[in-house]
Amino acid sequence: MKNLAIYVHIPFCLSKCVYCDFLSFSNKESYFKQYFLILEEEIKKKAEILKDYNVSSVYFGGGTPTLPSAEFLISALNAIKCNFKGDFSLIEITIEANPETVNREKLSELRNGGFNRISFGAQTFSNKILKKIGRIHTAEKFFSVFNDARDSDFKNINIDLMFALPDQTIDNVAADVTEIIKLNPEHISYYGLTLAENTPLALDSSFIPTDDVTDRLMYDLIVSELKEAGYIHYEISNFSKTGFESKHNCSYWNGTDYIGLGFGAHSLICDERFHNTEIFAEYLKGHNKKENCILLSESDKQSEFFFLGLRKLSGVSESDFLKKFKKSCDEIYGIQLQKLEKDNLITRENGIIKLTKLGIDLSNIVFREFIF
Ligand code: SF4
Repeated sequence: MKNLAIYVHIPFCLSKCVYCDFLSFSNKESYFKQYFLILEEEIKKKAEILKDYNVSSVYFGGGTPTLPSAEFLISALNAIKCNFKGDFSLIEITIEANPETVNREKLSELRNGGFNRISFGAQTFSNKILKKIGRIHTAEKFFSVFNDARDSDFKNINIDLMFALPDQTIDNVAADVTEIIKLNPEHISYYGLTLAENTPLALDSSFIPTDDVTDRLMYDLIVSELKEAGYIHYEISNFSKTGFESKHNCSYWNGTDYIGLGFGAHSLICDERFHNTEIFAEYLKGHNKKENCILLSESDKQSEFFFLGLRKLSGVSESDFLKKFKKSCDEIYGIQLQKLEKDNLITRENGIIKLTKLGIDLSNIVFREFIF
């Protein structure tokens, strides 16, 4: 049986952050009940189609999955467990949480209801910057719910942080890194701010993006301090304690099939990419025809092997490429690989191709080489 990662999209937020272009919206509380009814129907239908798969991870993302009540979330998770195949007592089951939308009681309910990993969107511990980017929580609230999560028996906690935020200095980043190390979570995702078109931040003429040199100094500081504290830097933006790499995210980088459930959720099944409707009213009517289906060609799959696989700092294996495509990577990308190696952007040793430090800093340039 093939492995399957399940992503469940909960598109609701208390309010929109100024940098956010995710498919999510506020003020939709009155639709929660209907949304979860339709979601559970979709779960049953998709499980029927995907009965030859074994579930390897489940991830509730958003939006703010912890905005609706634990009862809705646990019911949806139970629908997955009842309808899909998999050993749910062993696999990673994550829920993203906004600190402002959970308390001790809700965290205990979620843990007892089967979620065994929680991913907090903290972003920074500076209240001034949190306010500036439109986050609804404070650092104090985050620290409090982090302890509540530990007390509720969450033994696998991720914290999302961001750098290159508005008005953020290198000292601010250093202070955030010091705090996160004190908290000692199992996993840390640390992303640089990307300015998405038409967001309030992108349209704010007073916003001055962080310059490239400062951006890299911030990144280098994060990497060196977290490594020093014992974290494994296993993906460009992800760090973990040994054995706590995100199984779900690794599925994306390894090209495992995944099904997206819920409004607008994206899927990759049998080399076909598609997504659910992005019209909320249509989703609530139970419309779940595949939208924007793209059947990946051999060349698309070869590109993805590199530009997803190279995100992992362990790199990609030349023999895996040969096994998968019955051609060597030199046959397909010989010129590109030679150029990238000459420019010190990748290394090739013992059949493993990896990004160099420079390659990490210029990863977008590296990845472009694999797209024809
Ligand atoms: S909480 Fe997350 S999904 Fe919601 S608006 Fe903020 S960044 Fe976007």
